[in-house]
Amino acid sequence: MNTKAARIGVLGGTFDPIHIGHLAAASEVFAALSLDLVLVVPAAEQPFKRGTEVAAGQDRLAMARMAVAADPRLEVSAVDIERGAPTYTIDTMTDLDAAHPGSTWYFVTGADALARLDEWRDSERLRELATFVGVTRPGYDVPAGLGDIPLVEVPALGVSSTDVRRRVSLGLPIRYLVPDVVADYIGEHHLYRGGAHG
Ligand code: ATP
Ligand code: MG
Repeated sequence: MNTKAARIGVLGGTFDPIHIGHLAAASEVFAALSLDLVLVVPAAEQPFKRGTEVAAGQDRLAMARMAVAADPRLEVSAVDIERGAPTYTIDTMTDLDAAHPGSTWYFVTGADALARLDEWRDSERLRELATFVGVTRPGYDVPAGLGDIPLVEVPALGVSSTDVRRRVSLGLPIRYLVPDVVADYIGEHHLYRGGAHG
């Protein structure tokens, strides 16, 4: 990657598993903000999700990597999974900024997570490191009073990882909700069969 003054978007999340909603959001933000790259960054363990069962980091990473492999606009970063739990976005951004110095950072957050931005650790320092960008998501109202946070309208895809896991546990199809390679990986690795996944 050419790191000279690169404009890089960061989409954090659990990605358990990655689905077409994530990919559409990344793609739309890439275009809307004229970015050079969007990094998909699976978390080790998110503080807001503590106590919930999550697939292994290596499985979530592998699925994310497969999902973006054919798209040069998107890459997966393992910084959060390599650092280990808990994942705080301030650490994500500090590590990414050290790895790609001089970049301009855009941290992308869906409408559901936007409502809690001020609860994030070091949110003031975080706002100095990265510009927050909101993306629309069906079923979630964009909170009022976002201030200077730009909002990117993403084609409405009512897909969630929770629903993908639920579908697998019930034996329902997930094709076209996740990339084919991800559906294949879930099947081959027997992920989400237990029914304990939300
Ligand atoms: P879960 O149901 O396990 O919470 P999820 O589908 O919400 O999974 P996350 O990994 O929690 O996926 O989300 C990562 C980021 O992607 C968040 O900022 C979230 O708001 C955003 N996002 C997830 N699904 C969509 C979607 N369908 N459209 C737009 N943004 C989305
Ligand atoms: Mg979520």
